[in-house]
Amino acid sequence: MTTTTLQDDLLGMLGERGVLSDPRSLSTFSKDAFYYSPVLRGLLDGKLADVIAAPQTVEELQELVRYACARNIPLTMRGSGTGNYGQCVPLQGGVVVSTHRLNRILALDEAPGVVRAEPGVRLGQIERQARPLGWELRCYPSTWATAALGGFVGGGFGGVGSVRNGVLWDGFLKSVTVMEVTPEAALHTLSGSELTGFIHAYGTSGIMVELEVNLAPAVPWEEAALSFPTLEQALRFGAELTLDSLEDKRLISLHEWPIPSFFGPLQAAGGVAEARALALLELREGRTGAVLERSRAFGGDLTYSAPASAYHAGKFCLSDFTWNHTTLWAMRNDPGWTYLQSNLSSDVGEALKQMEALRTYHLESGSRVAFHLEIGRQAPDTPGERVFISALDLISVPDAPGIAAAIAERERLGVSVANPHTYYLDADPRWSGQPVLDARARFNPLGLLNPGKLSAGAEALGAT
Ligand code: FAD
Repeated sequence: MTTTTLQDDLLGMLGERGVLSDPRSLSTFSKDAFYYSPVLRGLLDGKLADVIAAPQTVEELQELVRYACARNIPLTMRGSGTGNYGQCVPLQGGVVVSTHRLNRILALDEAPGVVRAEPGVRLGQIERQARPLGWELRCYPSTWATAALGGFVGGGFGGVGSVRNGVLWDGFLKSVTVMEVTPEAALHTLSGSELTGFIHAYGTSGIMVELEVNLAPAVPWEEAALSFPTLEQALRFGAELTLDSLEDKRLISLHEWPIPSFFGPLQAAGGVAEARALALLELREGRTGAVLERSRAFGGDLTYSAPASAYHAGKFCLSDFTWNHTTLWAMRNDPGWTYLQSNLSSDVGEALKQMEALRTYHLESGSRVAFHLEIGRQAPDTPGERVFISALDLISVPDAPGIAAAIAERERLGVSVANPHTYYLDADPRWSGQPVLDARARFNPLGLLNPGKLSAGAEALGAT
């Protein structure tokens, strides 16, 4: 089949607004934020879809799926394309299916604290509509303003809120309606343990067409930036604050110098203290004073605060400098930076030793490292609860062999790495493994969804 025939057929099916085929759209919609990685840039630049489809209804999507199954055409789902690992790059061409027109909130608080929505709805829209009703997202990525719900579930991990409510696997999803990629294009509504097959599955295990998401009771959050003499003191303070269950917080993000110097707008607002580490916090309204007092024992000092009335309403939020936004600010400042995602020990003393060993390693191998840490919880308030200290460590290593060596050194030190320089889902220690393979065998039996994102080994494992 020629590309022209494919584009014409889709035009007939979805109408003018449902098909994009000009070179600029093909290029834009075939990419995500993989350019943070020099390795992925080399591997993925130039991979293009034959056409972009943007169905507006589930019925249109069903028609598209039936059509693709009859002709063996790959389909790659796309939310807002902010993923970092080439998750929605169509490795084998075919159709990129953008969900930007499947973007309706279908019910909010119909069941208390639950939102039901289409996959293309932006997380920011849910947060903004839920708060006046007394609810907020349990966690969201720092790309919350643009990232889509289906994209977060399909490609994300956690973010703001994770220090309170855990990550995507911790009760974020209540149910999901999945379209199977078969000639029937049948729909299935799943809940409980079956949801695991769709979380961080890179859209390989079925098409999510409707999601029910559990919300948390809304808290009035105020923001505070505290500076500390060193990252060690910021971390000791942050760890203590994390463990204090009486002190509500939505964000604890720690940055060693010179990282705070990259945060232009915060610096312009006087929020950055020269040569000091910075903690970016979201705290319950009225608590900044007490938290500041507590930080004094660690050398803490307040550099910036914003009241709850300005939450999500000012020129910037502190979360704009956290999670992988930190890397973005660093790369803007100096394109030589890239990053790793290193899961340090949950024990602060051990984590400090690991960072010290890595500083020595980078110094000796002629590269730079600067540590940015996010503190969160997994399985919170359960017997399996774990506090994590996740480094999104900035490194100035430009090539694949250097990055592989930096990862090997971390692993030698007992630090597992969620490698952001590969597009293989199964190379990410956060993927769920067998539940994804089982869901894939059931809902994507022809392997048409996002082909190439599982290594040959994982493909061979298949379903149990
Ligand atoms: P996309 O990139 O469009 O898609 C992600 C994956 O989901 C793809 O594999 C896609 O095929 C799949 N998918 C999309 N829709 C569907 C569907 N309907 N059915 C099945 N599969 C589907 N991530 C975090 O977890 N936390 C962070 O704090 C964070 N911060 C970031 C900061 C920056 C500056 C950047 C660039 C990225 C960051 N990310 C973060 C990564 C990314 O922004 C988030 O994971 C985001 O939620 C992805 O949403 P998206 O709509 O852009 O997804």
